[in-house]
Formats: sequence, structure tokens, C-alpha cells
Amino acid sequence: MGIIVQKFGGTSVADAQKIHNVANAVIREKENGNDVIVVVSAMGHTTDHLIKLAKEVTPNPDSRELDMLLSTGEQVSIALLAMAIQSKGYKAVSMNGQQVGIITENIHSKARIVDIKTEKLKKFLNMGNIIVVAGFQGVTSEGEITTLGRGGSDTSAVAIAAALNADRCDIYTDVEGVYATDPRIVPNIQKTDIISYEEMLELARVGANVLHPRSVETAKQFNVPLRVRSSFKLDNMGTLIIGVDNMEIYKPVAGVAADSSQVRILLSNLPDIPGTAAKLFGALAKNNISVDMIIQSLARNGENSIAFTVAEEDLKAAVETIKNQNDINLTGEILTDEDIAKVSIVGAGMVDRPGIAADMFRALSEKNINIKMISTSEIKISCLVEKNNAKEAIKALCKEFGLESNEAAVVKGDLPDV
Ligand code: ADP
Ligand code: ASP
Ligand code: MG
Repeated sequence: MGIIVQKFGGTSVADAQKIHNVANAVIREKENGNDVIVVVSAMGHTTDHLIKLAKEVTPNPDSRELDMLLSTGEQVSIALLAMAIQSKGYKAVSMNGQQVGIITENIHSKARIVDIKTEKLKKFLNMGNIIVVAGFQGVTSEGEITTLGRGGSDTSAVAIAAALNADRCDIYTDVEGVYATDPRIVPNIQKTDIISYEEMLELARVGANVLHPRSVETAKQFNVPLRVRSSFKLDNMGTLIIGVDNMEIYKPVAGVAADSSQVRILLSNLPDIPGTAAKLFGALAKNNISVDMIIQSLARNGENSIAFTVAEEDLKAAVETIKNQNDINLTGEILTDEDIAKVSIVGAGMVDRPGIAADMFRALSEKNINIKMISTSEIKISCLVEKNNAKEAIKALCKEFGLESNEAAVVKGDLPDV
């Protein structure tokens, strides 16, 4: 008998019938002889609707109050799922983040989990319960409710699996596993049976939203065996995400992803003296603004320019921060460019294999796609392109690196009756 953590996303709990289907899938795991903890997201598009509602009340809702509002979405689904499980004759108890003791940093809307209390979880498991936990939410040590960022229920599930030393964490979703790119963009795309934590982490960070990046980070840190599985084909094993030592790398590129949620900030006429970049990026970091791609141009006449990207929701705060940072002596304008998408290829197999970057640039140029910025890491190459080129770029790169398949992926939100 082991401990299994299951996670079901919003589409899997979108209505009463689907909640019953999830209950059946959870009971199936319990009947296999396991202790089961199930983490769920808010029903359907509840989180989007709550955000829209808040913005109807005020264009800039306070982040504490927004967390208070958004956390209600998951509270609805845990209670309903616990009721559904109980109605089938099994013991179940629902718990929100505060009741479990999912302790996070004191930051709203993108808090990181710092600790998970296991006493109550163990107590309820020992009493024979299936525990239904609200994903996406936590509480600070001062008792403030926080959320983990969009898609954060994956991270709740993996963190609970790590804290309880669970045998497995299964993320059930509306596709059959991790594909080489989003199957909604390229339907004829290869499915991945097994992928390393490192590659999956890069893919999630560059826009493959099938998993929340911090869920993969946590799985890697605590060596949690992680599966992405189909909530409509429960016997399907999906994709296993594990340490790289267990794998043989044969393909240079494991996946392609795009992220259209960033904006570019261009600063010209910055003084070419030591400390300018430190002051600029130090100020942004102090205001909790993460910077992604950075390019500094060659200095001319004692001045240079810096271009960098931030998340679009941070744009306003970033521009304000730069305007208030008088000691960087910016004499030029602050230009912003919102028409960008970052397209990336990821693969542990590209290490020490020259020519992959050139192949990527050529594939894009053959489609007449202009590259605005480039950045690379050991297992990733990213190009900034215009937003309306992103889909074509993904298709071209999947073709270039042999990631297409003869069979179309099944993409659906429905759970079968089990
Ligand atoms: P959930 O509500 O279950 O958390 P998400 O919408 O967050 O579901 O994640 C599943 C979706 O991720 C899929 O429907 C698919 O469109 C998208 N996706 C993006 N990249 C990939 C990929 N590489 N492999 C599989 N799915 C992907
Ligand atoms: N409900 C949250 C969201 O829509 C968290 C999640 O689904 O993982 O982002
Ligand atoms: Mg998700």
C-alpha cells in the first residue's frame, strides 16, 4: 500500500457529472489499495471569470483581495468532490490550503510554497479518508491567504507528494500526456513517453503550460516520480517525468513551445559605466519583477542600450520602477513593444551538438519570420518573433526537428464514465 497524489484540472471538474467521474477515478486508486490525496482546480473557467469580475469592479484590484477572491474557486470544487466521493460510500474530507498548512511566502498572486504541514493529512489518511485538497492556494505564516500563480494546482499536488514522500504524483488533464508541442497547435505531433525533469522544466518555463514550472522544479528537487495522464483514458500511462540519468538521449530537440505573455522594454542612451545594469535590474528585482531575455548593445560615444523582456502584467510596474530610478541617468526614451512572442526549442540532446541553433534560424528564415532577440542556455534556444508569427514558427520547428507524427493527438476536456 502506497500514497498516491492525484491532480485534476479545471476541465476535469467542470460540472456535476464530471465531478462524479473524477470521484470514480479517485475511488479506483483507493480500491487499488492506496492512500489517496486528490488535488483539484477550480471548476471550468471559474478563475478567469473571477478575475474578470474583479476587473469590472476596479481595473487594478488589490493583490491581497484578488487572492482572497480567487481562492474561493478551488474551495467550491473540493467540497463538491468530497460530497461525490461520500455519495459512493467512501470516506472523504475536503481541506483548503490553510487547513492543510500549505505555508507560502508573503507574496500575493505568485507565492512559492515554503513548507507543508503533514500532521492533519496523515491523521485523516489514517482514519481511512480520501483527502480532497484545494490546489493553487496557501497561507502565509501570518495567516494571509495567497495563490501560487496561474496553473499552480500542479505545484500544490507535487509539493504534497514531496512532503508525504508519496509513491507517485499523477497529473490528470485533457490531453494524453506531454507532446513535443501543444497538440492544439500541431495536432500531428509526437507524444513523449518519458522526459527528463530538466527538459520538462525548461519546456514548462518557456510556455508549455501542460505543467506549472514550479511543479516540475519541486518534483526534480524531491525526486517525485511525476506522470501527466489522460483524465479520459485512465488506463493510459501518459508521460513519465524522471531524472535524466535513467534516460538515453537520442533526439537533439525534445520539444517546442511559445510564450506570448511577455513584453519587451528598450532603453537607449544609458551611460556606459560600471553599475548601470546592476542598478537597473536591482531595482526591478526589488519590486519583484522577473526579467527574462536581456540584450546589451555595443557601447558607442559612452552610451549603450539595453533591451529586455518582462511578463506583460509587470509592464506598468517595470516602467514606473525605471522612471523612479534616477541614479541610472537614462537620457533616452523608454520604448515598449507588446507585439512579441518567444519561441523556444528545448532538448538535453543539443548539448555539444553544434548546428542546432543555425538549423532553427534557417527554419524560421525559410518562413520569412524575423528574429528580434535570441537567447540560449545549455538545453534551450529562444527567439523573439512577432506575435502573429508564433504558430507558424512552432509548426516550422516541429517539422525541422522531426517531431511530427502520423497520428493526430486527441484533445478533449471530457471524462468518460468509469
Ligand atoms: P488543466 O486544467 O488540466 O490543468 P491545462 O490547460 O493547464 O489543463 O493543461 C493542459 C493543456 O496544455 C492541453 O490541453 C494543451 O493544450 C496544453 N499544452 C501546451 N503544451 C503542451 C505539450 N507540450 N504537451 C501537452 N499539452 C500541452
Ligand atoms: N484555478 C487556477 C487557474 O486557473 C489554478 C489551476 O488551475 O491550476 O490558474
Ligand atoms: Mg494546468
